[in-house]
Amino acid sequence: MRFLILFLVTPFIFYSQTPQEFGKEIVKTLASPEFYGRGYVNDGSKIAADFVVKKFKEYGVKPYGNDYKQPFNITVNTFPTVVEMTIDGKVLETGKDFVVSPISGSCKGEYIPFWIDSTNFPKVIDDLKSMRMNGTTAFIMDKKGITNKDTLALFNELKYYLSTLGPVVTIEEEKFTWSVGHQEAPNAIVAVLRKYISKSIKKLTFKIENKLEENYELANVIGVIEGKCKKKNIVISSHYDHLGMMGQQTYFPGANDNGSGTAMFLYLAKYYSTHKPKYNIVFMSFAAEEAGILGSKYYTENPIFPLEDIKFLVNLDLAGTGEEGITVVNATLHKKEFKKLGKLNLKNNYLEKVKLRGPAANSDHYFFTKKGVPAFFIYTNGGIKAYHDVYDKSETLPLTEFNDYSKLLIAFIKKL
Ligand SMILES: [Zn+2]
Repeated sequence: MRFLILFLVTPFIFYSQTPQEFGKEIVKTLASPEFYGRGYVNDGSKIAADFVVKKFKEYGVKPYGNDYKQPFNITVNTFPTVVEMTIDGKVLETGKDFVVSPISGSCKGEYIPFWIDSTNFPKVIDDLKSMRMNGTTAFIMDKKGITNKDTLALFNELKYYLSTLGPVVTIEEEKFTWSVGHQEAPNAIVAVLRKYISKSIKKLTFKIENKLEENYELANVIGVIEGKCKKKNIVISSHYDHLGMMGQQTYFPGANDNGSGTAMFLYLAKYYSTHKPKYNIVFMSFAAEEAGILGSKYYTENPIFPLEDIKFLVNLDLAGTGEEGITVVNATLHKKEFKKLGKLNLKNNYLEKVKLRGPAANSDHYFFTKKGVPAFFIYTNGGIKAYHDVYDKSETLPLTEFNDYSKLLIAFIKKL
């Protein structure tokens, strides 16, 4: 309402948001508790998909076919209710002091620790076979000091087997990097920070509930802005999903990964809705990237127009910093385009550095590249290091180079 009055009174002065201000607003929304970490608990991913659709409609981005959504199903392990743990009565904070393994099963009760570490491994394997478990043993696995590669592989393999006997605790030195699992272990598997665990502990309690969701429905969100020359298509992509929740109390905001890329994606959608592009620009917002690049994989297996008709794809993931410039995955495959991008950057003095990188299976461009679609995956470098943890929040994500990064992308797309 305020905007309307302002507009009526002073028709020639109106407020225009910078790309960075626009980006911050989008990231704040996507990383808010109402989106539940854009995963599977409380249908966070679906809420995010609907948000992208809403923005497409707002900007006048049309669906490519009949619908914006391309539905598909996945199997995913979730933690929809309770994830709690104590050590000798001390309540550990979920997501900060400990995390469940993505493939963790459920567990409830009190347990006595049994250590497996460099002092008794791998000899302990034989003992375990003959040991009779009474259902009150929690296995604490400490890999510190195990340096032989094969022994370490064996140690890691043992984790799943042990979960058939009781809950398993692994030890993490500094920071957790969570992900999404597609199966469930027979019992709980958790990782605890070393500072909360020692050989003198006597009792552990767990209250952990998982739910394996089979055939969970998700959707890629796809829209198009028609260009002056409709013969060719440029694709801009980014994934909107993140890791979701670990119980009802803890969520992974995913501000940088990939609230920021989605913000840049939506900024470009908005930009091209008022600046008609040369070629069609197809906007693809993928689901289930964190679950193993599954949304974009599904798309490349079920494309809505021939993959050969994509002139170039630009995938945006981790767009939230940029103090040290950007890295371009597939730069070595598309040297001409990489040179163009570097030149544009240098000429306009946008970013600190445009770094070259070879192919990598690390985001949604990957299956397009495998099928021969020319593609770049670009991510920003420098600044805060929160990644796949509860600290990847909008409050601490600066979007430092968002303005210049957006200008560089627009200049690059114009030259394609
Ligand atoms: Zn990501």
